[in-house]
Amino acid sequence: MSIAYLNGSFLPLSEARISPLDRGFLFGDGIYEVIPYYGGKPVGFNLHMQRMADGLASIEIKCDKSIDDWRVLMEELIAKNASLNENLGVYIHVSRGADTKRYHAYPENVEPTIFAFAFAIKDPEPVDRDKVHPYSVCSTEDLRWKHCNIKSTSLLGNVMHYQQGYAAGENEILLFNSKGELTEGSSCNAFIVKDGVVITPIQDNQILPGITRRIILDSLRADGSIPVEERTVTMDEVRNADEVWISSSSKEIAPVTRLDGKAVNDGKVGAVWEAAFRIYTDHKFEY
Ligand code: PMP
Repeated sequence: MSIAYLNGSFLPLSEARISPLDRGFLFGDGIYEVIPYYGGKPVGFNLHMQRMADGLASIEIKCDKSIDDWRVLMEELIAKNASLNENLGVYIHVSRGADTKRYHAYPENVEPTIFAFAFAIKDPEPVDRDKVHPYSVCSTEDLRWKHCNIKSTSLLGNVMHYQQGYAAGENEILLFNSKGELTEGSSCNAFIVKDGVVITPIQDNQILPGITRRIILDSLRADGSIPVEERTVTMDEVRNADEVWISSSSKEIAPVTRLDGKAVNDGKVGAVWEAAFRIYTDHKFEY
């Protein structure tokens, strides 16, 4: 039976439990390592631990274990699981821990969740070109962290950006791609208004296809009094917009009056926002 480590205790892996409010579960808000142990000896232990410490520091998870604490803990885990196999992999996972609510910004005073378990791994391959098992692979464009159209719980990228805005005392943060084109907010879609036209980035892999965004576009188009466009929006256009809005199921359509410390236009909530929010409010239950 596999013995796991969870928050200070060893227990059978099948009995280990964490809260569904754990941010590792809700947001992918955590760091992990896998260390191979051959005949009880680790490969790259210090390097794995340094990478984990770097990862934890970069997302501001405070874990007070030293490298020696980890070494002792892992040796104990390996000893308790020695009956599983001669060679073991150890999976270590430190998440930001379980808060009492679901909120993107990093919570204060939450203890990290520390989880580890061991599993059997294969013997090393023979150092012999005639006997080693080679791999056959295929190839594709690297799209990692670029599937923003999927409402995935892998939200660490969003959470880090939300925290960036929150730490700066802002309510949200607008995001641009490497070409300086508007994508969306860390937890919302984004719109600008210029010369009476409501403009929002096209729905592609760079944004979540927001339900609120869809209802805004469809209800405005059906109403016909305010023109709408789905197209590329540059950073300059955002900075020179007459109005900026953000949208989500919890915010509905929220007017943005300050961006990067400067007023949007005259710093007042715009007339197009009011007209659009009225149309949205009148029709939102029809979808
Ligand atoms: N983009 C992101 C990244 C979001 O997290 C959300 C809210 N879940 C939205 C857009 C808005 O989507 P919706 O209108 O469906 O709430």
